[in-house]
Amino acid sequence: MTQNPYRLLLTQGDITRVDADAIVNAANTSLLGGGGVDGAIHRAAGPGLLDECRTLRGCPTGEARITGGYNLPARHVIHTVGPVWQGGHKGERETLARCYRSVFELVERQGLRSVAFPSISTGAYRFPISEAAPIALRELRAALARLPQLERVTVLLFSPEDLDVYRQALAALGATS
Ligand code: ADP
Repeated sequence: MTQNPYRLLLTQGDITRVDADAIVNAANTSLLGGGGVDGAIHRAAGPGLLDECRTLRGCPTGEARITGGYNLPARHVIHTVGPVWQGGHKGERETLARCYRSVFELVERQGLRSVAFPSISTGAYRFPISEAAPIALRELRAALARLPQLERVTVLLFSPEDLDVYRQALAALGATS
């Protein structure tokens, strides 16, 4: 299949404002809310999200769970738990890749057409963004190639610096694959 490059969008912004079939939450294993993007998503979605999350009884690192979007413009939230960076010798890269794959398993199963990601693990979990960006982008491109149902995958970077890192990583990947 020819890959339409416009199906992958890197942009700066607030993921809680994105209208998509699903936005992805960088959650913790409790799924009961936290700081960073998790806190922002729960604040914007309203208490219904936390009520539904309580019924899920947590989520192991590397896996994903889907809920409704409640007061968000997005129809669903896919919660995934990224690895905490511990220096890079504890399988953190593979676990991060597994997060993206777990999200796309749900996307496929639910027939979703658009999904928006934050930069998983690169905030409080301290995964170096220059290492996380190529892992994320490789998984996003693989999913786009595999799933024709996907019309758009967006990465919402919170700062212009983060957006730059992802743009450079995408350009570097383009040269090698
Ligand atoms: P983690 O615990 O997985 O590291 P964080 O929420 O601490 O998750 O950080 C992940 C990324 O999400 C960081 O780059 C942070 O700047 C970004 N972020 C925080 N709030 C938002 C938001 N509202 N929209 C998009 N990205 C956000």
